[in-house]
Amino acid sequence: MWIQIDATELKKHGLDYVQAKIKASQADEQNPDTAKYRAAADVREGELEVDPDAVVSFSDDGGAYVMSWQWVSAKEIGLSTCDECGERVSEVVGCPDGAEVCRDCFNAGAH
Ligand SMILES: [Zn+2]
Repeated sequence: MWIQIDATELKKHGLDYVQAKIKASQADEQNPDTAKYRAAADVREGELEVDPDAVVSFSDDGGAYVMSWQWVSAKEIGLSTCDECGERVSEVVGCPDGAEVCRDCFNAGAH
């Protein structure tokens, strides 16, 4: 079970707010459609992962939001992997043998 607690609402309503959130989550878990929504969301293997107990938030718009994990590669955020030490770095140096190494490994004489 995963429950998102809004700090403002918690301060305003105290533990009643938390208990209401737990009750709502348990009710959603009992809904037979919850597993169906999770299964429908878990179709993008390796790109979008859905935990077996992922939160399913039902919507009045004829569907539900399914909590999932989206894969983001280091390359997508501008990082490369040093072929020598394996560190993720923002810049690599290309070597004559085709290896790409970080500045530290290059300066240390790697490749
Ligand atoms: Zn390195």
